[in-house]
Amino acid sequence: MEDEARPTIKGRFTTCELVKREELAQDLVKFWIKPAQEFNFKPGQYCTIGVEGIERPYSIVSSPDEEFIELFIEIVPVEHGGNLTPFLNKLEVGTEMTLRPRAKGIFILQPDFKHHVFVATVTGVVPYVSMIRKYLSDPEWPSSDSLAHDEYTFDVLEGASYLDEFGYDEELTRLAAKHDFINFYPSVSRPTEERNAGWTGAQGRINALTEEYVANLGYDPKETVVYACGNPQMIEAVGEQFELTDYTFIEERFWKEDD
Ligand SMILES: Cc1cc2nc3c(=O)[nH]c(=O)nc-3n(C[C@H](O)[C@H](O)[C@H](O)COP(=O)(O)OP(=O)(O)OC[C@H]3O[C@@H](n4cnc5c(N)ncnc54)[C@H](O)[C@@H]3O)c2cc1C
Repeated sequence: MEDEARPTIKGRFTTCELVKREELAQDLVKFWIKPAQEFNFKPGQYCTIGVEGIERPYSIVSSPDEEFIELFIEIVPVEHGGNLTPFLNKLEVGTEMTLRPRAKGIFILQPDFKHHVFVATVTGVVPYVSMIRKYLSDPEWPSSDSLAHDEYTFDVLEGASYLDEFGYDEELTRLAAKHDFINFYPSVSRPTEERNAGWTGAQGRINALTEEYVANLGYDPKETVVYACGNPQMIEAVGEQFELTDYTFIEERFWKEDD
């Protein structure tokens, strides 16, 4: 018998299976899901998954040519207003979830610009990882009339309170060491706390460091897109820094400030 108290999902949906999960820091988890049917997306887009009739969008970490869809999720505790994520936190490998059949979103790589400055807080790094993985695995991507594949640069600026929250720092550090067109610049905002012991990198909120970092890069603003994704306050601050300039600025907010 159907549970009357549970919300039900309306419209078309398919399912997916949780095939792997990995806990990071407290309240951060990576999921790998296998859609029951073909699922196409562009790097930077999101999928919508659901459990118990509650659905939420999640940007996709993986490149479209990977076998599974990878997600990086911050668990919002019930006492802080979390609805779906407390369920996700408890999900075991093998569990089925609902999945909307189509990926959505327009926060995608802008192919006619040479330089891509990716600013993120914690899970906001997700769309950028997908874009970089796709770029490295597909010499035909992105497709542009004005630029060749080897003309692009990528600078990832990621802020977190603690060093164990970056999620993809090992991958990005490795890629930055290997390719001179990729740079990774992580910063922790609470450097003096015990959890950040041993941190030798940049300190401070990422939005307070972005303007100077971008100026030091020396890119032509007309050839540069600054992307911001994650925390709405960071996005607001970075948006203000670039709105009256020749840089192109685009954003993806994971939640609203007054939520
Ligand atoms: C386009 C898009 C892409 C998204 N991609 C991701 C992603 O890749 N990873 C991810 O973790 N979340 C992502 N989110 C947020 C996600 O959809 C959920 O809102 C979030 O997981 C919390 O779900 P919830 O049901 O537990 O709480 P909700 O009912 O959705 O929100 C409760 C409260 O939690 C806070 N909150 C929401 N999201 C976050 C977060 N990520 N970190 C900290 N606090 C938050 C807000 O204050 C909100 O009021 C995305 C949202 C959008 C719109």
